[in-house]
Amino acid sequence: MDLPAKDVELLPENEKIQDEKERGPTFHCELYDTEMVRKIAQVFLPGLSSACVDNTTGDMFRSPGSVAVDIRKEMIDYLTQRSESFVAESVVLEGGPDAEVSDHPFDIISDMVDDFASLKRNLFGRVSGWLLSEKREDKIDDFVQEMEINGFWLLDRRETIAQILVKNVDFKNIFHCDKKFNTAEELAEHVRNCGFRTMNCTNEGCTTVFCASHLEKHDSTCPFKIIPCEQQCSENIMRREMDRHCITVCPMKIVNCPFYAVGCQSTVPHSVLQQHRSDNLRSHLLYTLKSIHKGASEEDLKKRVDQIVELSSGQLADARDVRSLTLKVKDLEAKPGPLEVIAAEKVSEESNKAGENSREDSIEAVKKGGEESTEVAKIGSEKSTEESTAVDKTGSEKSTENINKVGEEFSSIRI
Ligand SMILES: [Zn+2]
Ligand SMILES: [Zn+2]
Ligand SMILES: [Zn+2]
Ligand SMILES: [Zn+2]
Repeated sequence: MDLPAKDVELLPENEKIQDEKERGPTFHCELYDTEMVRKIAQVFLPGLSSACVDNTTGDMFRSPGSVAVDIRKEMIDYLTQRSESFVAESVVLEGGPDAEVSDHPFDIISDMVDDFASLKRNLFGRVSGWLLSEKREDKIDDFVQEMEINGFWLLDRRETIAQILVKNVDFKNIFHCDKKFNTAEELAEHVRNCGFRTMNCTNEGCTTVFCASHLEKHDSTCPFKIIPCEQQCSENIMRREMDRHCITVCPMKIVNCPFYAVGCQSTVPHSVLQQHRSDNLRSHLLYTLKSIHKGASEEDLKKRVDQIVELSSGQLADARDVRSLTLKVKDLEAKPGPLEVIAAEKVSEESNKAGENSREDSIEAVKKGGEESTEVAKIGSEKSTEESTAVDKTGSEKSTENINKVGEEFSSIRI
């Protein structure tokens, strides 16, 4: 690449003697909005790159690198001149067709950079096919990178230019200080308190530099600031970690009720889920029963809720979700006892079949009803204990299957 290794003096000629020409107080505050100046300095390289690429495209004897030094100088002169006449021009244009144009220095200077780049297009560079091609975009990006790697136009040099341009176009004095003083002491005193003096963010990990007047603005968005959890849990979290905290570990994370799938539409903070479960046990139970005994009447199911709650002696509160509540319910429904006695009253002849399962035997027995039921319950409960021991050994899968099967049997009897 033919870029010079060392940067040359880039200040426009007339800037050096400008101060001497001015009358009145001679001690000027030179402070400016550092963030704005940096942002503007960052558009210079892409602007220069597109000017160099469009100027040499289709030319086998010249590369972007071979024209970069000259075009950079032209660019600085162009921007300086345009910025100097900007205020006068904008007064003329005020109220005209361009009245809507932004008066923000970044927009003004970016537009000037674009104007300059389009002026440097050669004949081939003006072909619309080329201007819209991805190849052009790639070449421009590549040349920006090449200049960065070679330190061709360092950021602090670009910032010096940007600072001058900002002062020229920022006629509302929003992005630079225009205060003047009669003595160096007065100036020094002012600089200590000037709203444009630079400050470093004090939040650990943050390297942002900003104007004193932007302290509050930065602090309210600084990604490294430690702030209380947005969901009002007791923790303090770094702002940039907040989203992740809120959707992962935060105890106040909003979750669907675990009985959402069967009908409870509540959303609650994770930390009060247990409370929600115990407060809504009966309604969760009703939802669960509805999914077990599809088609059963609401009235019957409500009665069943009462029976199950009575039988459960408090153990249902441990059921964390539909699956575990279903297992517990089916277990309770399968237990011989008051439930089955009530169930047996409604059993129709054809609904039951003898089977290999010991519980089916017990159902068969229950079907006969009357005095036998007490004995049956005894046998049933013994068998059930035996069986549950066996089931424990064979694992939960089989247990679920077994319970499901038994539960279904009972449901067909009961309902
Ligand atoms: Zn100042
Ligand atoms: Zn910060
Ligand atoms: Zn939290
Ligand atoms: Zn719920």
